[in-house]
Amino acid sequence: MDIQFLGTGAGQPSKARNVSSLALKLLDEINEVWLFDCGEGTQNRILETTIRPRKVSKIFITHLHGDHIFGLPGFLSSRAFQANEEQTDLDIYGPQGIKSFVLTSLRVSGSRLPYRIYFHEFDQDSLGKILETDKFTVYAEELDHTIFCVGYRVMQKDLEGTLDAEKLKAAGVPFGPLFGKIKNGQDVVLDDGTEIKAADYISAPRPGKIITILGDTRKTNASVRLAVNADVLVHESTYGKGDEKIARNHGHSTNMQAAQVAAEAGAKRLLLNHISARFLSKDISQLKKDAATVFENVHVVKDLEKVEI
Ligand SMILES: [Zn+2]
Repeated sequence: MDIQFLGTGAGQPSKARNVSSLALKLLDEINEVWLFDCGEGTQNRILETTIRPRKVSKIFITHLHGDHIFGLPGFLSSRAFQANEEQTDLDIYGPQGIKSFVLTSLRVSGSRLPYRIYFHEFDQDSLGKILETDKFTVYAEELDHTIFCVGYRVMQKDLEGTLDAEKLKAAGVPFGPLFGKIKNGQDVVLDDGTEIKAADYISAPRPGKIITILGDTRKTNASVRLAVNADVLVHESTYGKGDEKIARNHGHSTNMQAAQVAAEAGAKRLLLNHISARFLSKDISQLKKDAATVFENVHVVKDLEKVEI
């Protein structure tokens, strides 16, 4: 799986950075792509990637500020115009109000979609586990921004152990139905009386990945909880070191605070995004350098950058 950043800018688009959106590509796992936020122009950015809009099966919205949702009507409409492609339904998760925003935009513009959208709205009282499938569980928790805003914790379920076919062959197990039985955890006895214990031939389950994607926020304990042991934490860094006060006043974080969250949570990797257009490239290197004094494995992402998880 990987994350591809579609928009890594703060507030408004600049030449180098579009407004917020990222794609969590789960093609190998479930043949789906999940979008997190959908700022204006997200569909244009997607054109520069290999992502096929109909593969986008779920969209998670962190909060209703325009730079995180104004791309929805356009993306949803274009998604309908994919010739010869099967129309697949879509789920949208987000704060209360997202449904009315999407439906109003579609109605006023006379847009009709040939697929269904299922809305899953939540408020302060209905957070927690918001989605569970056979492979993934997603949790949402409220952050601390200027309006209701959440962060998401995507947890992949543990992956089953794999069957060691070479070892089985070496033990004299004939290829065929016995392999299937052993894979299902069943012990078997061969014709010559040899007992084969399934557990000896199946590797231990591998832990699933944890991906934490936060919306805009001041430093808060909720961020730490969402990011505990995360393989990847995507955290905003609207401001730089020394600007903690102004960050607080505007409901945002600095790179240093993001690094503190990553360190406190025991996350493995920190990706800084929601980067202000004020920052020039030398400032970006400084953002990383400063943050690295608190949390070493940190990187400032760019638009269209792909990060393997
Ligand atoms: Zn915001």
